[in-house]
Amino acid sequence: MSAAIPYGRQSIDDDDIAAVNVVLRSDWLTQGPAIEHFEARVAQYCGARYAVAVSNATAALHVACLALDLGPGDLLWTSPNTFVASANCALYCGADIDFVDIDPRTLNLSVEHLAHKLEEAQRAGRLPKVVVPVHFAGQSCYMAALHELSQRYGFALVEDASHAIGGQYRDKPVGSCTYSDVTVFSFHPVKIVTTAEGGMVLTNREDLYQALLRFRSHGITRDPAQLQGEVDGPWSYQQLDLGFNYRMTDIQAALGASQMNRLDGFVARRRELVGRYREALAGLPLSLPEDAPDARPAWHLQVVTLDDASWRKPAFNALRARGVQVNVHYQPVYLQPFYRARGFQPGYCRNAEHYYYRALTLPLFPAMRDQDFERVVDAVTTTLSEIS
Ligand SMILES: *Cc1c(COP(=O)(O)O)cnc(C)c1O
Repeated sequence: MSAAIPYGRQSIDDDDIAAVNVVLRSDWLTQGPAIEHFEARVAQYCGARYAVAVSNATAALHVACLALDLGPGDLLWTSPNTFVASANCALYCGADIDFVDIDPRTLNLSVEHLAHKLEEAQRAGRLPKVVVPVHFAGQSCYMAALHELSQRYGFALVEDASHAIGGQYRDKPVGSCTYSDVTVFSFHPVKIVTTAEGGMVLTNREDLYQALLRFRSHGITRDPAQLQGEVDGPWSYQQLDLGFNYRMTDIQAALGASQMNRLDGFVARRRELVGRYREALAGLPLSLPEDAPDARPAWHLQVVTLDDASWRKPAFNALRARGVQVNVHYQPVYLQPFYRARGFQPGYCRNAEHYYYRALTLPLFPAMRDQDFERVVDAVTTTLSEIS
């Protein structure tokens, strides 16, 4: 049998390799010019004022929360249909976490559920300080509505756009921060653009930008405007916060900047394959997410929802046996043992659970060949005819 088809895979070309080689032969492996070049590239692409490259998106979420002054006694809300990092960032800061159920159509955090939960939270005097909407599978949340709620209730918005670089919302690139305080990207190899490990934080707020730079690098600054009291001399730096070493290397940044040259092509191919999946799988007992009215999704993942939850495990096993490396995104975060130990119970977010029990992720990546695509479609069709 031919090699298994992964659910996601990076696309590295000779230009990427050449860009990394240039850095390896240069004076700077880290803290050099490739970082600022990559940051400027992504900021410009997205139309955001500032960008800060970090070691991964988990670190990006952490420094974003720190810059927003999230701490003990505060509350962060996010979607349960996400990777654990979207929630863990609250706990890194000593804040509490809660989850807002999803919209069954978009599989993103539901504006209606959020609005309802905010009303209740206001009565209870326990409003969130930060809400983290996740652009699941590459499709933007309804940011204008979320922004309106953030203004009314006074919370900050951090877009977890780990899946969504290259996507748009209302004709603006995801990452423009038009409707949010901060946007976070991941550059893990399964994501849309890769730096091996890597992440980025974008914002239009100068105060957040300065804080993000400090938290990325030990809480230290050399900026004369930020130094406190008497300064010993031109060598002086000051630690103002408890920061981390969350820096990206120049090697990674060079790879990222090179990958940005192909971002539009990556997204076009992903959207083309999603269009073909919709045609090829129509008529099978499953459903696929549609493009929401205001969104032009980058489509990081091709998820499908099977009509019957009892088919999921046999379908998963049969597809894997046929060399199709299906996956599942995501088990609701609060069902993880760590979060159950904090008091969350099954049934907490019914839409997220209903989706999860029926969910499968099919292979989707730009380098997927037409014959791979046909193999996946055949395997799904055969498998469902056997099971359903
Ligand atoms: C991948 C991912 C992250 C974490 O990204 P890393 O760069 O691996 O730290 C966070 N949130 C979501 C939604 C993700 O998919």
